[in-house]
Amino acid sequence: MPNTRTRHAEEEPATDPGGLRAAVRGLLEGLGEDPEREGLRATPRRVAESLRYLTGGYGVDLEKLMNGAIFEDPVDEMVVVKDIEMYSLCEHHMLPFFGKCHIGYLPRGKVVGLSKLPRIVDAFAHRLQVQERLTNQIAHAVMKAVKPLGVGVVIEASHLCMKMRGVAKQNSFAVTSCMLGGFKKDNRTRAEFLSFIR
Ligand code: ZN
Repeated sequence: MPNTRTRHAEEEPATDPGGLRAAVRGLLEGLGEDPEREGLRATPRRVAESLRYLTGGYGVDLEKLMNGAIFEDPVDEMVVVKDIEMYSLCEHHMLPFFGKCHIGYLPRGKVVGLSKLPRIVDAFAHRLQVQERLTNQIAHAVMKAVKPLGVGVVIEASHLCMKMRGVAKQNSFAVTSCMLGGFKKDNRTRAEFLSFIR
């Protein structure tokens, strides 16, 4: 009996914060499925956990994230981190969109630890998003934290809501960009960034 109880407790935690598990169960029923059949019994819990992880960016404190990762440095050349893997959920269909994010900035006496840039991407990507807003939020977060002369962010992403349904365009992907400061005003700065990420 204790074993049964343990297994049961694992599959069905006592609390259902936000009612996510109940909602997923309702979703399964709405689809005409039987939430009690063996393959689906743990699905509400799994989906709830997975959604919580995939939207974990709402709980990220960016100031805390950047704490101790901004360094004084006289470097005045462009810093570019490209091909940062990015996974997000579109807010229209809650289906994944994913691809690569490229970030460049022109330091003004300060640099940010390179590993922090992917963390910033995750903080905003792990929410319900549209690609344009995601691109803007990343750029403004870098601007705010590092206070550089300019920031450029480009995201290239495939959207499963386009690939799997709707127009069903298998090979399309969307490119969005946000250029701030010198990246917006100076054509050469922007061209240099774009040549780096090509
Ligand atoms: Zn969508």
